[in-house]
Amino acid sequence: MSNSPQASLPSDLKSHNLDKSLRTVFLDRDGVINRKMPEGQYVTSWQQFELLPGVSESIAQLNHAGLRVLVVSNQRGIALGLYSAADVDEIHQRLGLELAASGAHVDGFYFCPHDKNQCTCRKPLPGLFDQAVSDFPGLEAASSLIIGDSLSDIEFGRNLGMRTIFLQGDEHASRNQKPGAQKASELADETFSTLPQAVTHLLERQRQAQV
Ligand SMILES: [Mg+2]
Ligand SMILES: [Zn+2]
Repeated sequence: MSNSPQASLPSDLKSHNLDKSLRTVFLDRDGVINRKMPEGQYVTSWQQFELLPGVSESIAQLNHAGLRVLVVSNQRGIALGLYSAADVDEIHQRLGLELAASGAHVDGFYFCPHDKNQCTCRKPLPGLFDQAVSDFPGLEAASSLIIGDSLSDIEFGRNLGMRTIFLQGDEHASRNQKPGAQKASELADETFSTLPQAVTHLLERQRQAQV
C-alpha cells in the first residue's frame, strides 16, 4: 500500500499538476464519513450513523481550503425497502447539524436510491456527478477528486477523469474488507487508511503547490 508519497511517485507527479486547480472534493459516505455496516447491512437511521474519528475536522479543513465538498452515495437499501429516501434526507440533515458544531459543512448531498442495473446514477455510473453539475454549473471532473472506500467509487472517478483516493479503512474495517478492495487500491491514484490521513496529505500538497 502506498501511504508515503515516495512509494507512488508517478501518481504524485500527476496529481501535483492537478492540485493547483483542485476545486471540488467528492466524498463517498459509508466507510468514509461514517462507520460502514457489515457487508449486506445498511445504515437505516441516525441512531446507526457512527461518525468516524476526525471526519468533522477534516471536512472543516477542506472547507477552509476553499474546496467544495459534495457527498455521493449509493443507497440501494431504499430500493430494498429497508428505509426511505426521507430517512436518508433526515440522516443528512442531522449530519449537517453535527458537522456545523465543528464549523464544517457539506455543500451538497447526492444519493442513488436504486437497485443494481436500474438507473444511470448508481456509482460507478456518472448520474450523481451530472446532478451535481446541474447544481454547480462550473463543476468539472478535471478539477475534482473523489475519496471512497469501494471499487465503485474509484471507477466512478476514473470514468469521469477525476483524481481518485481509495480508503482501505482502519483495522476494524480492513478485517472485513470487501471484494474489489485490492483492485480499487491498484486503480486509485493513492491509497490511505482514513479520511483524516487523506485530507492531511492532500492539503499539505496543496500548500506546497501554491508556494
Ligand atoms: Mg462506501
Ligand atoms: Zn440510481
